[in-house]
Amino acid sequence: MRSLPYFFRGPVVRGFGRGSKDLGIPTANFPESVVDSLPTDISTGIYYGWARLDNGDIHKMVMSIGWNPYYKNTKKSMEAHVIHTFKEDFYGHILSVAMAGYIRPERGFTSLDELITAIHNDIEEAKKKLDLPEHLKLKEDNFFKTSVSTTSNQILNGQHSLL
Ligand code: ADP
Ligand code: MG
Repeated sequence: MRSLPYFFRGPVVRGFGRGSKDLGIPTANFPESVVDSLPTDISTGIYYGWARLDNGDIHKMVMSIGWNPYYKNTKKSMEAHVIHTFKEDFYGHILSVAMAGYIRPERGFTSLDELITAIHNDIEEAKKKLDLPEHLKLKEDNFFKTSVSTTSNQILNGQHSLL
């Protein structure tokens, strides 16, 4: 994909209460404006990359870009699972994301177990891929060095790191 790596940041909004957290895999959802600004060659599916909450540490993450059932599948949604245990929820906080690579397309599942297994496989693949030098270096990008204002609802995105 031409647009990868792709950098963006935006506030975490409430999702649709599909119970991701109950599955042990909470997903931080992004607002429509962030989804709408995605380049057209970023297709739906599962991605891996790096995420930083406010001015905190940089963690590995997996992200799903999919069709949003709330809008009768006419709009895309973006949700990131950060591979880290946080003490508290962080709704309204700013998440900065560097999307590094693509894992697989979206697919349906016949059982909840099958879905959970697939997500755990995605997480393992993300962890492995992100240890490759080409992806590790994204952690050092200026994008993650800028101080983020946690009080403004800043939304930034682009293919270049100097946002
Ligand atoms: P919602 O439907 O509101 O997105 P989820 O069950 O998907 O609810 O939980 C997502 C929320 O959980 C995030 O918005 C965030 O505040 C919190 N959270 C806690 N730990 C994580 C994590 N490791 N990755 C993503 N979100 C997390
Ligand atoms: Mg969610």
